Amino acid sequence: MYRTLHEQYPYAHCELDFDNPLQLLVATVLSAQTTDVTVNRVTPALFSRWPGAADLASADRTEMEEVLRPTGFYRAKTNSVLKLGAALVENHDGQVPPRLADLVKLPGVGRKTANVVLGNAFGIPGITVDTHFGRLSRRMGWTDEEDPVKVEHAVGRLIPRTEWTMLSHVVIFHGRRTCHARRPACGACPVARWCPSYGVGETDPEEAAALLRFELAPGAGAKGG
Ligand code: SF4
Repeated sequence: MYRTLHEQYPYAHCELDFDNPLQLLVATVLSAQTTDVTVNRVTPALFSRWPGAADLASADRTEMEEVLRPTGFYRAKTNSVLKLGAALVENHDGQVPPRLADLVKLPGVGRKTANVVLGNAFGIPGITVDTHFGRLSRRMGWTDEEDPVKVEHAVGRLIPRTEWTMLSHVVIFHGRRTCHARRPACGACPVARWCPSYGVGETDPEEAAALLRFELAPGAGAKGG
């Protein structure tokens, strides 16, 4: 199933824009409860105004709130970014540490964010269990686990470690484009023949094809969508 999904989405990648580990870390924190497209709209202004961890730590709160406002929950997110910048300066000389154990100690950073950063900014394989990954792993019969950490370990045992980052991308792409939370496009799904959940969504090929969201318009990649 993974190989087929990889063939379907050979270009699967992290959909957040970033130039360095700090940018990806901050962008991932900002992506909570919003789309990657929305985050990508605000991060150029954020990183040109405050390029380093020390800049983020000492930023004017009101000014940053204005920049982050389009991402929603902007007061909480500003708070997270200020604290994150401060913790990086205090504990890691302003650098993003390339270790899971260090990353998850940073304020506002959980395993999911840490694995995104490890896999995409440092090339260290990681499985990113977001809402799509958890839902699809269960639908495709890879695991029954609900807890994201248990899903990560269970699926990690099935797939070679070197594939973990790409696996995360293709499963998330499949969740965003085909196997939606509501009305998955089963009739247009490349792994339907092996999927124990085939039929939970639309099975008519034409109706299913109309549900595909291959070319995402800005804002169309809604989380859980
Ligand atoms: S067959 Fe349906 S439920 Fe299974 S992976 Fe495809 S779209 Fe999702």
